[in-house]
Amino acid sequence: MNYMIHPQPQSLGSIITYENDGRSSNTFNTPNIPYIPNNPNNPNNERDNSNEHDNSNKLNMPGILDASLTPEQLDYSQFLFKGFRELSVIKNGRKPQPFQYYLCFDVEATCEAGTGFDFKHEIIEFPMLLIDSSTFEIVDVFHSYVKPSVNPILSDFCIKLTGIPQTTINTSPSFPEMLCKFQEFLHSHQLFYKNSCAFMTDGPWDIRDFIRKQCFISKISRPSYFTLPWVDVRQLFASFYRIEKLNISGMLAKYGLKFEGREHSGIDDAKNLSIIAKRMWEDGVIFKTNRNLNWEIKKKKGNGKKF
Ligand SMILES: [Mg+2]
Repeated sequence: MNYMIHPQPQSLGSIITYENDGRSSNTFNTPNIPYIPNNPNNPNNERDNSNEHDNSNKLNMPGILDASLTPEQLDYSQFLFKGFRELSVIKNGRKPQPFQYYLCFDVEATCEAGTGFDFKHEIIEFPMLLIDSSTFEIVDVFHSYVKPSVNPILSDFCIKLTGIPQTTINTSPSFPEMLCKFQEFLHSHQLFYKNSCAFMTDGPWDIRDFIRKQCFISKISRPSYFTLPWVDVRQLFASFYRIEKLNISGMLAKYGLKFEGREHSGIDDAKNLSIIAKRMWEDGVIFKTNRNLNWEIKKKKGNGKKF
């Protein structure tokens, strides 16, 4: 079994891909990202095997340490919980947010008509909008289509639903290849280590389920940033305005807005979700994380005045 190790952005661990046939170990280009261990007390960043994908081989990976970071900064958990409040910026009279940036995203996956959640969904679109929490404007975009491996031919149902043509999929990178590019994007904005950040989704499914299924199919460990708590906008919207949970179109309708673009296009879903988030921000919502991988929902008290 061959291993390829892709360093993730500083302090976030590593992605490993491995091939059962043992024929090739150079499928992907390793991004040029400096490596820093998660925990200064664990300088070799030995992987804990509690992750959902069984990985019995421990890493002992030499890394490039950034001498400008202190041990405290290297300890991601300390930075996460102690540093964020001070880093928040008050601009335009808005309340400070607990994170400097949010990554608003919505994946699309392979699907067949009439199948349930047992289907082997594979991610085929991966759009990420980087939102500056001081303005709630989109300041950068990462967008990639992804070539599935189990079902590389999209069903007619899937093509009609998502609007993604087979020809686009045929020339797209695999999920691990795409993830390497995404991590270069994270690193270009110094997200999750120098600049605080949380993911923002519509419901729990993208991070909880689709990333889990895709990592299992791609035989990679769940990246560390996808183990962190995140903001479920659908849940936050419902609890803030004290109404039932609504889908993206339903939430937009509460503001008198219509969906812009095509529903079930990942990039359009993400853009419309970001429009909702900005309206919520204008109403004074604090975007604290309210979901985690333990399936817990942290309910917030809202003002209940809007609708
Ligand atoms: Mg979608």
